[in-house]
Amino acid sequence: MLTARRKSDGQTVHAYDESKRNGPFACLICGDPVILKAGRNRQNHFAHENPIACKFAEGETDEHRRCKLEIYEALRKTPGVTKVALERPLGEVRPDVSAYIRGVPVAIEVQLSSLSVETIMRRTIDYFRKGIYVLWLLQWTPKLDRPRYTPRIWERWIHAAYFGHVYYWIEELTVVSYHFEASFQTVPKRSWYGSGGGYSRRSKQHRRAVRGRTFNLATDFGPRRREWWEGNGVKVPDACLFMERNSGQQGIGS
Ligand SMILES: [Zn+2]
Repeated sequence: MLTARRKSDGQTVHAYDESKRNGPFACLICGDPVILKAGRNRQNHFAHENPIACKFAEGETDEHRRCKLEIYEALRKTPGVTKVALERPLGEVRPDVSAYIRGVPVAIEVQLSSLSVETIMRRTIDYFRKGIYVLWLLQWTPKLDRPRYTPRIWERWIHAAYFGHVYYWIEELTVVSYHFEASFQTVPKRSWYGSGGGYSRRSKQHRRAVRGRTFNLATDFGPRRREWWEGNGVKVPDACLFMERNSGQQGIGS
């Protein structure tokens, strides 16, 4: 976590500009004691003394913290963006970064591989009920540009929810869109006996990740509502999404 409550004055403070001598600190969600972890080689953050007790104490990588902080700081410098907050508690959800972008309430969630599809779906439903437009972001990896890519289950879910788009974070407010297409594997012809082979088969787990446009999420994205949808073993609830504007309806599915 990047935020905590400072016990001496009750203020919400950020790990990156706070110092250990101002402690003790408490978790904003459960109120349990948290410790400021500061080091030269990693992002400052708060950690629970007893991590088992709090559901928001889930493991978080340094990469994830850096990403949240970059988005937060870049949004604060962007005109037309107000009420930017890190990890603001909103009942059952606590978006990594939240803000009003040109008046639209937006929650930005940077996906961790430890989250299940059920969790992502539950949070998406929560945001929908609150009228908050959610943007699920993933961290970009060079694996995407290889001929075959193996999306994780929740990555395929995001693809289905966002009308065939997944947004990968590059830096600050820059994200790149990818679309998954079927990947075909050639089954070699068995020339020396009988029939079979010599055709292409659609791979169940692999996709071709097609790189799309690069966007600034604050200036190029807008609110979009979508209706419940089910197909190819994927269920998408009614949702308020924050995504590229004027994108086509193509590419639904997983
Ligand atoms: Zn806690």
